[in-house]
Amino acid sequence: MSAPLLQLREVGKNFGGVQAVRGLSFSVQRGQVLGLIGPNGSGKSTSVNLISGTLPVSCGAIEFDGQSVNDLPISARVPLGLARTFQTTSLFPEFSVHNQVLAACHSRFRSAPWAAVFRLPAARREETLQQERADEILAFVGLGDVAQELASSLSSVQQRLLMIATALASEPALVLLDEPAAGMVAKERKELTGLIKRIQARGVAVLVIEHHMGLIMEVCERIVVLNFGQKIAEGTPAEIRTNPVVIDAYLGGAH
Ligand code: ADP
Ligand code: MG
Repeated sequence: MSAPLLQLREVGKNFGGVQAVRGLSFSVQRGQVLGLIGPNGSGKSTSVNLISGTLPVSCGAIEFDGQSVNDLPISARVPLGLARTFQTTSLFPEFSVHNQVLAACHSRFRSAPWAAVFRLPAARREETLQQERADEILAFVGLGDVAQELASSLSSVQQRLLMIATALASEPALVLLDEPAAGMVAKERKELTGLIKRIQARGVAVLVIEHHMGLIMEVCERIVVLNFGQKIAEGTPAEIRTNPVVIDAYLGGAH
């Protein structure tokens, strides 16, 4: 197997006396969809915050694309190809949907500021390219029809899709999705399932946290199971579904 895209080695996170994540090691391969599941409070969101750089690790190492990212803030991880969605709604509610994605395109691909000021040909060409990329990404996530609406006017489900579009705009190698199906009805979940598969088909790896087991079992190649901040199992959906330790964690009253 080739070198993993993301590697966690014995990662830990303490909040005061609470060990939210303990000795966590796992990896994500390029283009892989990996699920992170576990009962409430088991450390899933904390893990995503550590990987994205939203929180610093207390101990252990996180490597992305062969390089340690332990000391890099979130702003320095995005250009490496590590993108996440936030559970908050839109980043710039007063922006149109299109412009919000455009801003995210620019955050990664920026010509020199002076080139843009003087509207040099290179800057103009790049601007056109970014406009097209924003349109393509919006169509890709299914928001093509609402591109000119205000981001704040979207339904909560559409805002989630917009967050995914914003994450994809940075052309990541890995996207982190924390409970993307929250608040979705069955039809919307089915569409999201299709979208995650299409993200993978774009060559982008996905790390997804989700309570909805139907979605997890359908999209994930591998699943890591957390309980009380520790990994209790890892395997294919078929292995996880029948693992007695996992069944016990879910049925043992922790959930
Ligand atoms: P999950 O996403 O699996 O539901 P979390 O990662 O949100 O779990 O939380 C794991 C544990 O860490 C919980 O006990 C939670 O209360 C605690 N925790 C999470 N974030 C913080 C924080 N910022 N400060 C203190 N404790 C936190
Ligand atoms: Mg959570």
